[in-house]
Parts: sequence; structure tokens; C-alpha cells
Amino acid sequence: MSGSEAGPGGSDESYLRLALELGARAGEAGEVPVGAVVVRRGEVIGRGANAREATGDPTAHAEVLAIREAARATGSWRLVDSTLYVTLEPCPMCAGALVAARLGRLVFGAADPKAGACGSLYNLCADPRLNHELPVVRGVLAQEAALLLSGWFAARRV
Ligand SMILES: [Zn+2]
Repeated sequence: MSGSEAGPGGSDESYLRLALELGARAGEAGEVPVGAVVVRRGEVIGRGANAREATGDPTAHAEVLAIREAARATGSWRLVDSTLYVTLEPCPMCAGALVAARLGRLVFGAADPKAGACGSLYNLCADPRLNHELPVVRGVLAQEAALLLSGWFAARRV
């Protein structure tokens, strides 16, 4: 794996690990385990985990919640100098939210061949027709991220 630095606070892997912890906690609470953090200049300014069951809100995806918290923390809807770390490739709604927030960078763990909109089914983060594009790093801690999901679904089946 790469040791690419995300800033003074830590590596891409360390922030993705944080997202994995948030996702795991959501999984224990009965949510599909997806977690996300937003980091700006080495500081975590937004945290989110899937909360659809708890909130009854179909848009309560980890990424959206993390972006909202980050925007509140910075006092601005523009997150150009921030990176979002998420355990699973964002869906079309969340990828749209990244573009809307003018996010600086996206790092995700497992690819989502069924709903992924950052390279799998669509690539909304790199579509020149939209008014913002952002670099995407895929596959950081991908095995752990995929295992978090597959383990959760397997446990529910038995
Ligand atoms: Zn989503």
C-alpha cells in the first residue's frame, strides 16, 4: 500500500481507519456499516456514519452527514481544501454532494460495483460537464473496507 501523506495529521490510511471505526460502530447499531470523515489540513472536521435506520432518512448516508458537519465546522459550504475519506465508493447522491461541496479530494476503500459513482458505474467526480472535478484515490484499505460490509451482511443472514 502507498504511504501517501494527507497532511501533517496523518496518512490516508490512518484517516480511512477512522472512517472504518465509525462504520463499524454504525454496523453494531444495525445500520449498513459505512463511515466517513472529512479532513482539512490534518484536522478531522466532519464525521459521519450511515444512519438511515436511526433517522428514517434515505439521504442519511455517511458522506452527506460528514460533509454537513464539516460545512458547519468551517462556516462555509465550500470544502475545496478538504478531503473526504469513506469506506465504500460513494453512490450517485453522495458523489453529487462532493461536487456540490467543491470538495478537494476523495479517498475511498472498497469499490461498489452496484452503486458506485466514482469510477464503477459513473464517474461524477471527473466529469468535465459538471462545474467541479476532484481527484479520487481508490482502494485504500480496500480489503478491510470490503470485509466490514461482507461480514455485516453475512452476520445478518444467519
Ligand atoms: Zn451515498
